[in-house]
Amino acid sequence: MAHDRYDLVIVGAGAAGIYALIRARKLGLNAVVLERGDGVGGTWYWNRYPGARCDVESFDYSYSFDELLQQEWVWSEKYSAQPEILAYLEHVTDRYALRDGIRFGVHVESAHWNEERLEWAVAAGGGDTFTAPFLIMATGVLSTPKLPDIPGLDDFAAELYSSAHWPVTPVDFANKRVAVIGTGSTGIQIIPEAAKAGAAMVFAMQRTPSYSLPARNRPLDVADHAGVKQDYRGMRQVARATMLGAFTDTRDRSALEVTPEEREAEYQRLYDYGSPMRFASAFNDLLTSEPANRTARDFVAARIADRVMDPEIARKMTPSGYALATRRLCIDTDYYETFNRENVTLVDLREEPIESITPEGISTSAREIPLDMIVLATGFDAVTGTLRRLDIRGTEGTLREKWDHSPDSWYGVMVHGFPNLFTVTGPGSPSVSSNMFLAIEQHVEFISDLIADSRAAGVTRIEPTEEAERAWVQHVAEVANATLLRDAESWYTGANVPGKARAVLQYVGGVGPYEDLLRHEAQAEYPGLMRARATEGVGQ
Ligand code: NAP
Repeated sequence: MAHDRYDLVIVGAGAAGIYALIRARKLGLNAVVLERGDGVGGTWYWNRYPGARCDVESFDYSYSFDELLQQEWVWSEKYSAQPEILAYLEHVTDRYALRDGIRFGVHVESAHWNEERLEWAVAAGGGDTFTAPFLIMATGVLSTPKLPDIPGLDDFAAELYSSAHWPVTPVDFANKRVAVIGTGSTGIQIIPEAAKAGAAMVFAMQRTPSYSLPARNRPLDVADHAGVKQDYRGMRQVARATMLGAFTDTRDRSALEVTPEEREAEYQRLYDYGSPMRFASAFNDLLTSEPANRTARDFVAARIADRVMDPEIARKMTPSGYALATRRLCIDTDYYETFNRENVTLVDLREEPIESITPEGISTSAREIPLDMIVLATGFDAVTGTLRRLDIRGTEGTLREKWDHSPDSWYGVMVHGFPNLFTVTGPGSPSVSSNMFLAIEQHVEFISDLIADSRAAGVTRIEPTEEAERAWVQHVAEVANATLLRDAESWYTGANVPGKARAVLQYVGGVGPYEDLLRHEAQAEYPGLMRARATEGVGQ
């Protein structure tokens, strides 16, 4: 049972933890990263299921902090697959010689604030403790899987996998009867792969259909790289000022102010390009106006009908009752076409809900489906899930108790009642509504600048004021309530986890405006924070 002291403890060695360690070392801090896995990569370490790839283009979905790094790395596809993203994160880890600062296989269980010593004590399974005045939770937004509460799940006698804990050894689908439960981004990626890999039958168990666009994934060639890399830095600067933090065009027209022909042509152009970010940004009111959104929905619904040969299956796979992009707008490779194959069956769980899982398979209200394999692609307790699961104890109780009520946070980066604790892409920040790599960079840079500035000024305790936090939470809600996201029934609002406080978990005011606000906070010497020096009392 070791007890180690550091200047900074970082939990998680995904893209956020890796960059946090790079920045900490630049500041000369003695920092450690605690990681439960045996390797770096976070999301891209755990979600190694077949078909896993990003839905933000590779040139965007990568670090921008080092011009040399972005110039030298060669992405092979428009949308990188999981092995390549993992290899990239491993490369970054080695390039900046970070491995000796990362402790693998460490399961953090709790973090308790000590008000006398002004430090966090982070306890891990096995009894090891790590203390430091500053703690960064880089634990990811989609890191706690939400497994379905289906009776008999544990009784299933054949192969059972969770997409979010996929085995390292390849899974063989050949000649097997496979059920995939869930048709969000993950299920949409797995189902075609299982079918292609020769499953005897893939049962796609769909409760809520998603809107999905063809990814138009393709290899990147020398010209693609040259086009971006001739001014990568400049493109990143532009991206950082956009709403989504990626290379999207700025749109200043309503979907309703153009002719139907112009609108159709624009949707078609972006549909042919293949990018959910670009498609959802086709007009400036798709997320704020129901009639505008309907034009986009109708367009995508017509394309689903083009892609699925059986009109009845197409109808069942066409979403209804929610606005496009208020649940994740997915992209796919041959998802709908997969349902034209002989070895794929759509099971519409709205018509025949799952009643139980038996040792042999799945029982729906209509039939028994014997199976050799079940894949759970049932999503995550997103954004706040991992932080709520850990025993994080501040000055007034646990984060779980606080967030059970409402996921309040100051800019998604600090929480009142939890001094010197930082969350990367926490609730109320752009996070998953944007290019995550950029969102991570924004936060890590803000946090490390704040720590550097505070240490230089002799500040030992930093905490957002209750008023500043309340004001931010109110602003996040106001912005969200002006959009169609206010009605979202998905993990975006915590709706997929029974009992979870309902709130739009992302700041949808845009990455560029968000960064301006953070910059203003820093320039104004953090008016939203109480920063106390060692000899001062709290609140000064
Ligand atoms: P998700 O979008 O939350 O989808 C979960 C699916 O499981 C939904 O279809 C849900 O149906 C279904 N489900 C949950 N519980 C069920 C139950 N008891 N019975 C039947 N169906 C059940 O989760 P995800 O697909 O893992 O994606 C989560 C997020 O991860 C995405 O939105 C995206 O941000 C990210 N992601 C990105 C990529 C990419 O970059 N391409 C790939 C994968 C994931 P209901 O909707 O009816 O609850």
